[in-house]
Amino acid sequence: MWIKLITALMILGVVFLPINLTTDSSINKDISAHQTSLANEESQPLNLSLPLNVKSNWTSADFNTPGIIWEVGDSATKFAVKDGKFISTNPKDTWFVYGWFGSIEAITKPYNIKYPQWDNRHNGIDFAGQAGLEITSASDGIVIFTGDKIGETVEIDAGNNYSITYGHLLDISVKVGDIVQMGDLIGHLGDSGTINPHLHFQVDKIENGYRTAVNPLTLLEVDWSRVVIPDADANRFYEGSQDPHLQPNFIW
Ligand SMILES: [Zn+2]
Repeated sequence: MWIKLITALMILGVVFLPINLTTDSSINKDISAHQTSLANEESQPLNLSLPLNVKSNWTSADFNTPGIIWEVGDSATKFAVKDGKFISTNPKDTWFVYGWFGSIEAITKPYNIKYPQWDNRHNGIDFAGQAGLEITSASDGIVIFTGDKIGETVEIDAGNNYSITYGHLLDISVKVGDIVQMGDLIGHLGDSGTINPHLHFQVDKIENGYRTAVNPLTLLEVDWSRVVIPDADANRFYEGSQDPHLQPNFIW
């Protein structure tokens, strides 16, 4: 009986499976071609490198090992971390992400950064680091702005209607009109226009007079679980997902 049943199933399989496969695969081909074209339209043509000309080599170390001090108002937190959490044995190599893309709860604190001009959103991400760290262009492009905007700021047209903004610089190494390549020095990490040294890194797509702020975390290949400072004030989202990768882009 089992043999008959199996044989019957095999026959059914042989007869119907190819038909089903043919049908499914032609539909799937259409769907997948459609999805591919959608993905191509929606995917970011930007190929970005980290804008910091250092590596972050995290190792376990004693808390006394030099790290960075992240200050907000009168509170300070030292980020030298033990047991696989954040620590660099060389503070000059240290950089972390602490200010994520999106709306953040920190705006409710009177002593912290506010973004009223952005409808209380944070349009980029913040890399904390040692003042003086080399900041490099994350893309090829043309310098379209230098000066005081988000502190000392460089803005680069990266092509395809994308602009990339580097804020709070200590100094600026390029001028408007300069053609830069990915990895070129554009300035140094600083604290201009803010209260703690960090790089504000922002990616905008500009179309039809509108800017769409693109979550930079979706464009950079980094092990975020190892470089995001936990429990920093500016990490607390005012609304939305707690996962910074899931923060949607927004038009402003
Ligand atoms: Zn920022």
